[in-house]
Amino acid sequence: MRTYITIFFIGLLFTGCSKQPAQSDQLYQQQFYIFGTLVGISIWDVPEKQASEAVDAIINDFQAIHNHFHAWKPGALTDLNQAIAAGQAWTVTEPSLLPVLEQATLFFHQSNGLFNPAVGQLIQLWGFHNDDLSSTYQYPPPDKIAELVALAPSMDDIKIQGNLVFSSNRAVQLDFGAFAKGYAADLAIKKLHQLGIHNAIVNAGGNLKATGQKGDKPWLIGIRHPNGEDILAAVALRGEESVMTSGNYERFREYKGKRYSHIIDPRNGIPVKGFTSVTIISQNGALADAASTALTVAGLQDWHKIAQQMGIKYVMLVDEAGTVYINPAMAERVQFQPKKKPKIIISEPL
Ligand code: AMP
Ligand code: MG
Repeated sequence: MRTYITIFFIGLLFTGCSKQPAQSDQLYQQQFYIFGTLVGISIWDVPEKQASEAVDAIINDFQAIHNHFHAWKPGALTDLNQAIAAGQAWTVTEPSLLPVLEQATLFFHQSNGLFNPAVGQLIQLWGFHNDDLSSTYQYPPPDKIAELVALAPSMDDIKIQGNLVFSSNRAVQLDFGAFAKGYAADLAIKKLHQLGIHNAIVNAGGNLKATGQKGDKPWLIGIRHPNGEDILAAVALRGEESVMTSGNYERFREYKGKRYSHIIDPRNGIPVKGFTSVTIISQNGALADAASTALTVAGLQDWHKIAQQMGIKYVMLVDEAGTVYINPAMAERVQFQPKKKPKIIISEPL
């Protein structure tokens, strides 16, 4: 286990787009930069040519997702958002957006609206529609926050009729940042299966999906510590599974010495506090990703109920004091670093 954790940790340090030297003849690894993060693909025991062609296909798919679904760079989603803001219907020019809208609406309902990709205007207002978050920062005007909360943009405002999409609420601005990586990971694994590859792992900046095994052993992965540097725990994956983590250690704004997370509570329009990281394991990557964001918003009070509603079976949450909250089934699966074992509170079963 220790050897693996070291390998994983070194893996986190790689940057740029590169083909890594294989750790063994059977392991093909390639990394590239997209979605503002480093994506690594590992494929077990297929000929190098087949593996490299599969990775090229996934890079193409990810580039398309990036172009079509980006929240602020011009593409199909910004076109749709502009049409909504102007009170106009949008003619579907990019059909791949429709299943994304469908899934987003389902997760919106399952999470009691805590996962709400319609709050793009709030996310923008808090300064998160920027690649560089280090620039000088002004706290958003409180009356503007209140106005947007009162307008209550939601996925239920969106209607699809034939090849037209429109919104009954002009305050809706879609931002799929909370589940795009999970969605992309699902597509990548599906593509690998179509190409005859059944043992692989796709890791987008620590949000990952695996399929099959690494030879006769399961894929072992590390869950990043909310301090953004260490590994908190390791887990062995079981066949096709994804592990998605929401954390405020990667994207945040600082104002007068206080940190503001990129996850916004749609009920009050304010960045959430409480959990610094929430990790979900599920077969469905998009669901795990959406749920990791929803449970961050739900907080200590409601995470268990929302996890049940979303059909989640494995959850681990870390609060600002470093205390770990975990459901019994997840507790059975994760292994903490022995020397850095945190305080752990096991919840009722899910
Ligand atoms: P994640 O890291 O998966 O939790 O996704 C965080 C991203 O989701 C943010 O950068 C925003 O783009 C978006 N977001 C923030 N708050 C919400 C929310 N309550 N519901 C849906 N998306 C959100
Ligand atoms: Mg998420």
